[in-house]
Amino acid sequence: MIKIALQQVNATIDKYCQLAGRERDSVALVAVSKRHSCDKIRTAYACGQRAFGENYLSEALEKQAQLDDFSIEWHFIGQIQSNKTRKIAEHFAWVHTVSSYKVAKRLSDQRPDALPKLNICLQINIDGEASKNGLAPDCQAVTALAKEIDALPKLRLRGLMCIPAPKADKAAEMATFTAMQQLQHALNDKGLALDTLSMGMSADLETAIACGATMVRVGTAIFGARD
Ligand SMILES: *Cc1c(COP(=O)(O)O)cnc(C)c1O
Repeated sequence: MIKIALQQVNATIDKYCQLAGRERDSVALVAVSKRHSCDKIRTAYACGQRAFGENYLSEALEKQAQLDDFSIEWHFIGQIQSNKTRKIAEHFAWVHTVSSYKVAKRLSDQRPDALPKLNICLQINIDGEASKNGLAPDCQAVTALAKEIDALPKLRLRGLMCIPAPKADKAAEMATFTAMQQLQHALNDKGLALDTLSMGMSADLETAIACGATMVRVGTAIFGARD
């Protein structure tokens, strides 16, 4: 099942890239494996999937220990508690959910010297929801923080990430994702070199890709419903 689901998700990404006039390799798929078993991760890996996203640190560390001999690129996409940054700095290649200098500084300080720089996305609370983390989409404030984080020695600031509120239609999805793309462009105009927009999940892939997503995070459409 996972094999077919993964093929379908990849075919969907192919199709939306074509529709948007984009190269297929401009969009990476992060398979979100939170609350799914190591067996399912092994199956997806056997089908060629390498990037996996996890939300809960202790669950992720347990899986990583069991999957030690696989060359998985691990993405942390959950809420960050600042007293748990060390394990994140040690055990992931990407962190998508940074929204403060304090957390970024700790991740940089705690990133082991032997590892490459940790790839970072700033989480943007693009719909201004009280229930969600992230920075307000204020260009000046985000630019100021991005420049400070960009200067940290063991981090590589790659781009922006969002988890949009559910939308009634494609036009509303489009407005949100376009705002993210415009924010990325504005930051690049101010001298940052951001190449990543982490946005688009199972339900809104098409619009995200049309609006410049370079990383889509898909769980349910690959692994099925979570427990
Ligand atoms: C769970 C999760 C996803 C995947 O969501 P699906 O609807 O299962 O595709 C993507 N991004 C984040 C941040 C998540 O927490």
